[in-house]
Amino acid sequence: MSQMLQAPFLVVTDHAGDDTVGYTLTAASAQLLTLARALTDGEVVAVALNSAPDLDALGAQGVSRVLVPDLEDHSPRVPAVVSDAVRACLEQVPGVGATLCVSNYRGREVSARLAAQLGSGAAVDVTAVEVADGELQARKSALAGSWTTRFHVTRGVPVIAVRPSSVEAQDAPTPTRPEVSAVPVTWSPEALAVRVISSTQQQGTGRVPLAEAQTVVVGGRGTDGDFSLVEELADLLGGAVGATRVASDEGWVPRALQIGQTGVSVAPELYIGLGVSGAVHHTVGMQSSQHIVAVTDDPDAPILDIADFGVVGDLFEVVPQAIETLRAAGLPR
Ligand SMILES: Cc1cc2nc3c(=O)[nH]c(=O)nc-3n(C[C@H](O)[C@H](O)[C@H](O)COP(=O)(O)OP(=O)(O)OC[C@H]3O[C@@H](n4cnc5c(N)ncnc54)[C@H](O)[C@@H]3O)c2cc1C
Repeated sequence: MSQMLQAPFLVVTDHAGDDTVGYTLTAASAQLLTLARALTDGEVVAVALNSAPDLDALGAQGVSRVLVPDLEDHSPRVPAVVSDAVRACLEQVPGVGATLCVSNYRGREVSARLAAQLGSGAAVDVTAVEVADGELQARKSALAGSWTTRFHVTRGVPVIAVRPSSVEAQDAPTPTRPEVSAVPVTWSPEALAVRVISSTQQQGTGRVPLAEAQTVVVGGRGTDGDFSLVEELADLLGGAVGATRVASDEGWVPRALQIGQTGVSVAPELYIGLGVSGAVHHTVGMQSSQHIVAVTDDPDAPILDIADFGVVGDLFEVVPQAIETLRAAGLPR
């Protein structure tokens, strides 16, 4: 059996939704809570940054307590606000073994700020965490994926941001009814220096969020800006649409869909690259995918070196045939 720490863990959870429709725990946060349970014998305490946390999902993950910091009128979209809020929550959990958060744009920045405030260390873009030799050790890839490193934080409470899909979410053997407590926050000058005046939610695509999708269909320069086949295939497979930096730089898709070193990291069961060459800046964000399929017209494209299944051909000829075959096989089910 793998080793565990005996200290409580604090998990910063993300919820989707808003005050009108309610809040749902994200898949990435459920994965993080599953990971926390595997690392500690102590209690798992969740931080929720909204007024109505998803207690059913948090209870299913075995959370004992949910701390809801009083954000007053500050926005949880501002990392300085969130790190102050998490620091206030840490004061409610003496002897904490680690703070975990999701490694997304906000989670990475919050981790760095929080570790600086605590005088400890932060690890972001982590793909695995384990207890070995009585200490918490984290793994991540470095130097554009050419190295894997294993390390631990040598002082203070480690703050670890874990990539979505690094762990499979599993319900706790016994669900809990988490106790909810409000936590007052003392604000730092940095949190007070920014005030969100308004924010507008982007029109949803109706597709599953990129970082959480189990199937991701990615368009690159080879699409020449026509993402219709990428979208059709993604919808057929119930997946998300992603893009290379070229595609987002060209303005063919929103920046939020960019996968890679300067974009989102994904680790789906199935990655399908259409007109993608497989530059290292891109593959660093998708190489943990369980199955990689690529369609490119270049037989020397590096993506074919990591693909489980590669097709050398024009995507505008290959993909319609693939879609037709999938439909003939009864998809969508
Ligand atoms: C600091 C830095 C950070 C970066 N960060 C990122 C990042 O986060 N994400 C990212 O993606 N990139 C990033 N890049 C850019 C990266 O280096 C590559 O330029 C980019 O990933 C290439 O995108 P692509 O595969 O779409 O285009 P290309 O490399 O041009 O590849 C297009 C592929 O499509 C094929 N093709 C063309 N037409 C067709 C067709 N009709 N049918 C089938 N195949 C076709 C071509 O043969 C080729 O293999 C970064 C670069 C730098 C310097």
